Amino acid sequence: MRIVATISETRKAVRAARAEGKTIGLVPTMGALHAAHLALMSRAREECGSVVVSVFVNPTQFGPTDNFEQYPRDLESDAAKAASAGVDLIFAPSAAEIYPAGFDAWVEVGGLTGILEGASRPGHFRGVTTVVAKLFNIVGPDRAYFGMKDYQQLKAIQKMVRDLDFPIEIVPVPTVREPDGLAMSSRNAYLSTEERTAATVLHRALKVAEELVNAGERDPEKVREAALGLIRSEPLADVDYVALVDPETLQAQRRVERPALVALAVRVGQTRLIDNMLIEFPR
Ligand code: AMP
Repeated sequence: MRIVATISETRKAVRAARAEGKTIGLVPTMGALHAAHLALMSRAREECGSVVVSVFVNPTQFGPTDNFEQYPRDLESDAAKAASAGVDLIFAPSAAEIYPAGFDAWVEVGGLTGILEGASRPGHFRGVTTVVAKLFNIVGPDRAYFGMKDYQQLKAIQKMVRDLDFPIEIVPVPTVREPDGLAMSSRNAYLSTEERTAATVLHRALKVAEELVNAGERDPEKVREAALGLIRSEPLADVDYVALVDPETLQAQRRVERPALVALAVRVGQTRLIDNMLIEFPR
Protein backbone atom coordinates (compact mmCIF):
# COMPACT_ATOMS: atom_id res chain seq x y z
CA MET A 1 0.00 0.00 0.00
CA ARG A 2 1.26 3.49 -0.89
CA ILE A 3 0.51 6.77 0.85
CA VAL A 4 0.58 9.92 -1.27
CA ALA A 5 -0.23 13.54 -0.48
CA THR A 6 -0.51 15.17 -3.90
CA ILE A 7 -3.09 15.20 -6.66
CA SER A 8 -0.45 14.48 -9.32
CA GLU A 9 0.90 11.36 -7.52
CA THR A 10 -2.68 10.11 -7.05
CA ARG A 11 -3.48 10.57 -10.73
CA LYS A 12 -0.27 8.80 -11.70
CA ALA A 13 -0.97 5.81 -9.43
CA VAL A 14 -4.55 5.52 -10.70
CA ARG A 15 -3.37 5.73 -14.32
CA ALA A 16 -0.95 2.85 -13.67
CA ALA A 17 -3.73 0.70 -12.15
CA ARG A 18 -6.01 1.50 -15.10
CA ALA A 19 -3.22 0.54 -17.51
CA GLU A 20 -3.27 -2.90 -15.87
CA GLY A 21 -6.98 -3.10 -16.65
CA LYS A 22 -8.09 -2.61 -13.04
CA THR A 23 -11.34 -0.96 -12.00
CA ILE A 24 -10.98 1.72 -9.34
CA GLY A 25 -12.94 1.93 -6.07
CA LEU A 26 -12.83 5.06 -3.89
CA VAL A 27 -13.65 5.27 -0.18
CA PRO A 28 -13.66 8.90 1.01
CA THR A 29 -13.00 9.30 4.75
CA MET A 30 -11.89 11.86 7.28
CA GLY A 31 -9.56 9.32 8.91
CA ALA A 32 -9.74 8.14 12.54
CA LEU A 33 -10.63 4.87 10.90
CA HIS A 34 -12.81 2.33 12.70
CA ALA A 35 -14.53 -0.93 11.83
CA ALA A 36 -17.26 0.78 9.78
CA HIS A 37 -14.70 2.44 7.52
CA LEU A 38 -13.06 -0.97 7.14
CA ALA A 39 -16.42 -2.44 6.08
CA LEU A 40 -16.56 0.13 3.25
CA MET A 41 -13.00 -0.76 2.25
CA SER A 42 -13.66 -4.51 2.32
CA ARG A 43 -16.69 -4.01 0.12
CA ALA A 44 -14.57 -1.98 -2.31
CA ARG A 45 -11.85 -4.65 -2.14
CA GLU A 46 -14.40 -7.31 -3.18
CA GLU A 47 -15.75 -5.28 -6.08
CA CYS A 48 -12.78 -3.36 -7.51
CA GLY A 49 -9.33 -4.16 -8.88
CA SER A 50 -7.73 -1.25 -7.07
CA VAL A 51 -8.91 0.49 -3.89
CA VAL A 52 -8.14 4.13 -3.10
CA VAL A 53 -8.94 5.61 0.32
CA SER A 54 -8.85 9.35 0.86
CA VAL A 55 -8.05 10.62 4.34
CA PHE A 56 -8.87 14.30 4.59
CA VAL A 57 -10.47 16.23 7.41
CA ASN A 58 -12.37 18.61 5.17
CA PRO A 59 -12.44 22.10 6.71
CA THR A 60 -15.27 23.37 4.49
CA GLN A 61 -17.82 20.96 5.93
CA PHE A 62 -17.22 22.05 9.53
CA GLY A 63 -19.21 24.92 11.01
CA PRO A 64 -17.67 27.46 13.39
CA THR A 65 -18.70 25.41 16.46
CA ASP A 66 -17.94 22.00 14.95
CA ASN A 67 -14.52 21.29 16.49
CA PHE A 68 -12.52 21.10 13.25
CA GLU A 69 -9.23 21.53 15.13
CA GLN A 70 -10.08 18.81 17.67
CA TYR A 71 -11.14 16.21 15.09
CA PRO A 72 -8.97 13.09 15.71
CA ARG A 73 -6.04 12.68 13.29
CA ASP A 74 -3.66 9.69 13.23
CA LEU A 75 -2.44 8.85 9.74
CA GLU A 76 -0.01 6.17 10.93
CA SER A 77 -2.71 4.15 12.65
CA ASP A 78 -5.14 4.78 9.75
CA ALA A 79 -2.56 3.47 7.29
CA ALA A 80 -2.06 0.25 9.27
CA LYS A 81 -5.83 -0.35 9.34
CA ALA A 82 -6.30 0.43 5.65
CA ALA A 83 -3.42 -1.89 4.75
CA SER A 84 -5.07 -4.69 6.71
CA ALA A 85 -8.26 -4.14 4.66
CA GLY A 86 -6.28 -4.60 1.42
CA VAL A 87 -6.27 -0.94 0.34
CA ASP A 88 -3.85 -0.10 -2.50
CA LEU A 89 -3.46 3.65 -2.12
CA ILE A 90 -4.11 6.26 0.54
CA PHE A 91 -4.52 9.83 -0.65
CA ALA A 92 -3.91 12.07 2.36
CA PRO A 93 -3.61 15.63 1.07
CA SER A 94 -2.97 18.83 3.00
CA ALA A 95 -5.71 21.46 3.12
CA ALA A 96 -3.62 23.62 0.75
CA GLU A 97 -3.47 20.80 -1.82
CA ILE A 98 -7.28 20.66 -1.92
CA TYR A 99 -8.00 24.34 -1.33
CA PRO A 100 -5.12 26.38 -2.77
CA ALA A 101 -5.12 30.13 -2.24
CA GLY A 102 -7.93 31.75 -4.17
CA PHE A 103 -10.08 28.59 -4.30
CA ASP A 104 -13.67 29.69 -4.85
CA ALA A 105 -15.77 27.20 -6.81
CA TRP A 106 -18.48 25.23 -5.04
CA VAL A 107 -20.83 22.34 -5.73
CA GLU A 108 -24.22 22.77 -4.15
CA VAL A 109 -27.12 20.32 -4.28
CA GLY A 110 -30.49 21.98 -3.78
CA GLY A 111 -33.61 20.78 -1.98
CA LEU A 112 -32.69 17.94 0.28
CA THR A 113 -29.62 19.67 1.72
CA GLY A 114 -31.58 22.46 3.42
CA ILE A 115 -33.41 20.20 5.86
CA LEU A 116 -32.46 17.95 8.82
CA GLU A 117 -28.63 18.07 9.02
CA GLY A 118 -28.60 20.91 6.50
CA ALA A 119 -30.90 23.01 8.70
CA SER A 120 -28.80 22.34 11.80
CA ARG A 121 -25.45 22.76 10.03
CA PRO A 122 -25.64 25.53 7.40
CA GLY A 123 -23.03 25.09 4.66
CA HIS A 124 -22.16 21.53 5.75
CA PHE A 125 -23.40 19.78 2.63
CA ARG A 126 -21.90 22.38 0.32
CA GLY A 127 -18.54 21.50 1.86
CA VAL A 128 -19.23 17.77 1.51
CA THR A 129 -20.39 17.83 -2.12
CA THR A 130 -17.57 20.17 -3.12
CA VAL A 131 -14.83 17.98 -1.64
CA VAL A 132 -16.42 14.77 -2.94
CA ALA A 133 -16.71 16.26 -6.45
CA LYS A 134 -13.03 17.18 -6.25
CA LEU A 135 -12.08 13.68 -5.05
CA PHE A 136 -14.12 12.20 -7.91
CA ASN A 137 -12.23 14.40 -10.39
CA ILE A 138 -8.85 13.64 -8.81
CA VAL A 139 -9.26 9.86 -8.54
CA GLY A 140 -11.77 9.15 -11.30
CA PRO A 141 -13.17 6.00 -9.68
CA ASP A 142 -15.63 3.54 -11.23
CA ARG A 143 -17.35 3.11 -7.87
CA ALA A 144 -17.42 5.14 -4.67
CA TYR A 145 -18.54 3.80 -1.29
CA PHE A 146 -20.61 5.72 1.26
CA GLY A 147 -22.13 4.67 4.58
CA MET A 148 -25.88 4.73 5.20
CA LYS A 149 -25.15 6.10 8.67
CA ASP A 150 -24.76 9.47 6.96
CA TYR A 151 -27.94 8.89 5.00
CA GLN A 152 -28.59 12.46 3.93
CA GLN A 153 -24.98 12.80 2.77
CA LEU A 154 -25.44 9.64 0.70
CA LYS A 155 -28.60 11.08 -0.89
CA ALA A 156 -26.92 14.44 -1.62
CA ILE A 157 -24.02 12.67 -3.32
CA GLN A 158 -26.32 10.41 -5.34
CA LYS A 159 -28.17 13.52 -6.51
CA MET A 160 -24.95 15.34 -7.37
CA VAL A 161 -23.78 12.34 -9.41
CA ARG A 162 -27.12 12.14 -11.23
CA ASP A 163 -27.55 15.85 -11.85
CA LEU A 164 -23.93 16.52 -12.89
CA ASP A 165 -23.41 13.26 -14.85
CA PHE A 166 -20.44 11.89 -12.93
CA PRO A 167 -19.75 8.47 -14.52
CA ILE A 168 -19.49 6.84 -11.09
CA GLU A 169 -21.58 4.20 -9.35
CA ILE A 170 -22.40 5.16 -5.77
CA VAL A 171 -22.48 2.11 -3.51
CA PRO A 172 -24.39 2.51 -0.20
CA VAL A 173 -23.02 0.43 2.69
CA PRO A 174 -25.30 -0.45 5.66
CA THR A 175 -24.62 1.14 9.04
CA VAL A 176 -22.12 -0.76 11.17
CA ARG A 177 -22.98 -0.78 14.88
CA GLU A 178 -21.37 -1.61 18.21
CA PRO A 179 -22.84 -4.69 19.92
CA ASP A 180 -25.18 -2.43 21.99
CA GLY A 181 -26.54 -0.74 18.87
CA LEU A 182 -24.55 2.53 18.88
CA ALA A 183 -23.60 3.41 15.30
CA MET A 184 -19.82 3.49 14.94
CA SER A 185 -18.45 7.00 14.54
CA SER A 186 -15.12 8.74 14.97
CA ARG A 187 -17.01 11.14 17.23
CA ASN A 188 -17.78 8.33 19.73
CA ALA A 189 -14.19 8.76 20.94
CA TYR A 190 -15.23 12.10 22.51
CA LEU A 191 -17.76 10.39 24.83
CA SER A 192 -17.04 9.88 28.55
CA THR A 193 -17.96 6.49 30.06
CA GLU A 194 -21.34 7.85 31.24
CA GLU A 195 -22.01 9.54 27.91
CA ARG A 196 -21.10 6.36 26.04
CA THR A 197 -23.79 4.50 28.01
CA ALA A 198 -26.29 7.33 27.42
CA ALA A 199 -25.51 7.34 23.68
CA THR A 200 -27.28 3.98 23.26
CA VAL A 201 -30.49 6.04 23.49
CA LEU A 202 -30.22 6.93 19.78
CA HIS A 203 -30.53 3.34 18.63
CA ARG A 204 -33.10 2.53 21.32
CA ALA A 205 -35.25 5.44 20.08
CA LEU A 206 -35.00 4.19 16.49
CA LYS A 207 -36.08 0.71 17.63
CA VAL A 208 -39.08 2.16 19.51
CA ALA A 209 -40.12 3.99 16.33
CA GLU A 210 -39.68 0.87 14.25
CA GLU A 211 -41.69 -1.28 16.67
CA LEU A 212 -44.56 1.22 16.71
CA VAL A 213 -44.70 1.35 12.91
CA ASN A 214 -44.49 -2.42 12.72
CA ALA A 215 -47.39 -2.61 15.20
CA GLY A 216 -49.49 -0.56 12.76
CA GLU A 217 -49.03 3.05 13.88
CA ARG A 218 -49.34 5.32 10.85
CA ASP A 219 -49.37 8.74 12.52
CA PRO A 220 -45.82 10.13 12.20
CA GLU A 221 -46.39 12.46 15.17
CA LYS A 222 -47.17 9.52 17.47
CA VAL A 223 -44.06 7.71 16.30
CA ARG A 224 -41.92 10.84 16.75
CA GLU A 225 -43.35 11.49 20.21
CA ALA A 226 -42.49 7.96 21.35
CA ALA A 227 -38.90 8.30 20.16
CA LEU A 228 -38.61 11.82 21.60
CA GLY A 229 -40.02 10.67 24.94
CA LEU A 230 -37.35 8.01 25.23
CA ILE A 231 -34.53 10.42 24.37
CA ARG A 232 -35.84 13.01 26.83
CA SER A 233 -35.77 10.37 29.60
CA GLU A 234 -31.99 10.26 29.21
CA PRO A 235 -30.54 13.14 31.26
CA LEU A 236 -27.25 13.38 29.30
CA ALA A 237 -29.03 13.52 25.93
CA ASP A 238 -30.33 16.68 24.29
CA VAL A 239 -32.39 16.10 21.15
CA ASP A 240 -31.80 18.21 18.03
CA TYR A 241 -34.38 16.55 15.77
CA VAL A 242 -36.33 13.34 15.25
CA ALA A 243 -37.96 13.08 11.82
CA LEU A 244 -39.98 10.55 9.85
CA VAL A 245 -39.31 11.17 6.19
CA ASP A 246 -39.57 9.73 2.73
CA PRO A 247 -36.23 7.93 2.17
CA GLU A 248 -35.83 9.40 -1.32
CA THR A 249 -36.93 13.03 -0.94
CA LEU A 250 -36.30 13.32 2.82
CA GLN A 251 -39.58 15.24 3.02
CA ALA A 252 -41.74 14.70 6.10
CA GLN A 253 -44.40 12.04 5.68
CA ARG A 254 -47.99 12.99 6.52
CA ARG A 255 -48.84 9.36 7.04
CA VAL A 256 -46.17 6.75 7.61
CA GLU A 257 -45.72 5.10 4.24
CA ARG A 258 -43.52 2.28 3.10
CA PRO A 259 -40.61 2.58 3.30
CA ALA A 260 -39.99 5.30 5.88
CA LEU A 261 -36.76 6.69 7.23
CA VAL A 262 -36.46 7.70 10.86
CA ALA A 263 -33.57 10.10 11.24
CA LEU A 264 -32.35 11.74 14.41
CA ALA A 265 -29.63 13.97 15.80
CA VAL A 266 -28.90 14.08 19.51
CA ARG A 267 -26.27 15.86 21.53
CA VAL A 268 -24.79 13.64 24.23
CA GLY A 269 -22.78 15.94 26.47
CA GLN A 270 -20.86 18.12 24.02
CA THR A 271 -20.91 15.52 21.21
CA ARG A 272 -23.51 15.66 18.45
CA LEU A 273 -24.42 12.19 17.16
CA ILE A 274 -26.68 11.20 14.27
CA ASP A 275 -28.34 7.91 13.37
CA ASN A 276 -31.19 6.66 11.21
CA MET A 277 -33.17 3.57 10.36
CA LEU A 278 -35.03 2.52 7.25
CA ILE A 279 -38.36 0.98 8.20
CA GLU A 280 -39.85 -1.43 5.73
CA PHE A 281 -43.31 -2.60 6.71
CA PRO A 282 -43.79 -6.28 7.47
CA ARG A 283 -45.40 -7.92 4.46
P1 AMP B 1 -16.25 9.89 7.93
O1 AMP B 1 -14.81 9.52 8.10
O2 AMP B 1 -16.99 10.00 9.21
O3 AMP B 1 -16.44 11.05 7.00
O4 AMP B 1 -16.92 8.65 7.20
C1 AMP B 1 -16.40 8.14 6.00
C2 AMP B 1 -17.40 7.19 5.41
O5 AMP B 1 -17.65 6.14 6.34
C3 AMP B 1 -18.74 7.86 5.11
O6 AMP B 1 -19.25 7.33 3.90
C4 AMP B 1 -19.58 7.42 6.27
O7 AMP B 1 -20.96 7.36 5.98
C5 AMP B 1 -19.04 6.03 6.52
N1 AMP B 1 -19.36 5.60 7.89
C6 AMP B 1 -18.99 6.20 9.04
N2 AMP B 1 -19.52 5.54 10.10
C7 AMP B 1 -20.24 4.52 9.59
C8 AMP B 1 -21.03 3.47 10.16
N3 AMP B 1 -21.18 3.33 11.48
N4 AMP B 1 -21.60 2.58 9.32
C9 AMP B 1 -21.47 2.70 7.97
N5 AMP B 1 -20.75 3.66 7.38
C10 AMP B 1 -20.14 4.55 8.17
